[in-house]
Amino acid sequence: MTDMETASSLLENYDALLARAKELVILMTASGVLEWDMETKMPPRGIILRSQQLSLLSQFAHRLGTDPVIGSLISKIESDPGFGELNEVQRRNVHLIRKNYEEQTKLPEKLVAETARQRAIAIDVWKKAKASRDFSLFRPELEKVVDLKAQAAVMLKDVKGSPTPYDALVDDFEPRMTAAQIGPIFDELKAGLISITQRCQASPRQPNPGVLERFVPMDVQRRVAESLASFVLYDVKSGQAGGRIDETEHPFTQGYYDDVRITTHYHEKNPTSSIFSVLHEAGHATYEQNLPGGWMYQPVGAACSSGFHESQSRFVENIVGRSTEFWSFYLPKLKELTDGAFADVDLGSFVRAINQVKPSKIRVEADEVTYCLHIIVRFELERDIFAGKVKVSELPQLWNEKYAEYLGVKIENDSEGVMQDTHWAATYFGYFPSYALGNVYSGQILHAMERDLPDWRNSISRGDFSPVRGWLREHLYSLGNLYDPTDLLRRVTGEDINVRYYLDYLRSKYGELYGF
Ligand code: ZN
Repeated sequence: MTDMETASSLLENYDALLARAKELVILMTASGVLEWDMETKMPPRGIILRSQQLSLLSQFAHRLGTDPVIGSLISKIESDPGFGELNEVQRRNVHLIRKNYEEQTKLPEKLVAETARQRAIAIDVWKKAKASRDFSLFRPELEKVVDLKAQAAVMLKDVKGSPTPYDALVDDFEPRMTAAQIGPIFDELKAGLISITQRCQASPRQPNPGVLERFVPMDVQRRVAESLASFVLYDVKSGQAGGRIDETEHPFTQGYYDDVRITTHYHEKNPTSSIFSVLHEAGHATYEQNLPGGWMYQPVGAACSSGFHESQSRFVENIVGRSTEFWSFYLPKLKELTDGAFADVDLGSFVRAINQVKPSKIRVEADEVTYCLHIIVRFELERDIFAGKVKVSELPQLWNEKYAEYLGVKIENDSEGVMQDTHWAATYFGYFPSYALGNVYSGQILHAMERDLPDWRNSISRGDFSPVRGWLREHLYSLGNLYDPTDLLRRVTGEDINVRYYLDYLRSKYGELYGF
């Protein structure tokens, strides 16, 4: 430690700071592997030991990130007369380390510990309340979560310079994005999505989802998953592989650069469920794996935000994975791999079935068009809770009213309503908007890509994903976390956030499928 304190030159201080950041990254990736193992391989009795391991590692990470040495290195670096000579990457690294340091040191340890404890209780009670369809059981625990998050939000608002406490929570996932910006974007998105949904529903040309109901044994689905991974250039097989696919109840992605793993869930009677999970998670995984290698271990060598992450998973799952071009290449392959299970299905019926637009009650089962309406309901409620306009006790009724208004569905009980997601019990307020922002970004990224690669759809129908990957790598992945989301979007697309491109993409795609 004394070495670092006596280091005099700017670059020595900078290197010392980056060495700290690297240790933090390595520690966090170790926690990540333990979390992955907990969901995939751990025997049931391991849970107590595992929670101790994870809790100790998170204490170490907190200590490492809030070490006063970091604060002192940052002030030495920033007050150095040569600070302006640091390059853009170096200054961004200092900024990101300072942001993390200030946010972590601002929150009292008591509040952090209490929130962690309440999180575990709230998730447990949420599971029971959801099983017994009883919101009154969950309500007091959710009220405590909201109260703790509100305290944190007020403190973080000052550190982050966010306009409102809720904005400080959003900033954790989508840096510097605010509810005042998101509100009008989502209003426009909502109007556009409702109109597209209504046109699809009014069309006489309805898909037949029955063509997707085929029995495909699990080991066959595993081979399909591997072949999809190889299509999107996510290596899970070779001697140099940096990925793997395992099985969990809910699919997720976990990892960093050379070791990024995904999971899926195989339903034997519904094989397309895993197909789209694998494409979605592989979109997350390949974003992580194609970040600039030279920036590994540096704060700048990370993905930009949750919204950008989701833009990549949805891009691969929907824009590529649910396109006619992809299936003109892949349906014959699927027929071959599944040994005739889809033998009688033609391309047109298949593509219409996987793109069926049908408003539903459950977010995770939603189609591409109605998905963001689910998110907008959650955003509006979260924003109003933290603005003091809505009480936790009012959530079920408001939820049901919004579902009736935006999606035209009648929620029968709170388990299929306000209690369907784990996010709020898990304290992730401010996370939901990034799902819908990701879709909006994906529309803009698509528009920008089409200017450079007008032929990209033909490459996909030839089974070649590499031009798309190459473009994303060059224009998006190579920038890592060098910019906040708004600035990154401008760099990649030349424009500020704009809903038009995503809506145009949907109108053109679904207009063709439904004939309007
Ligand atoms: Zn995702």
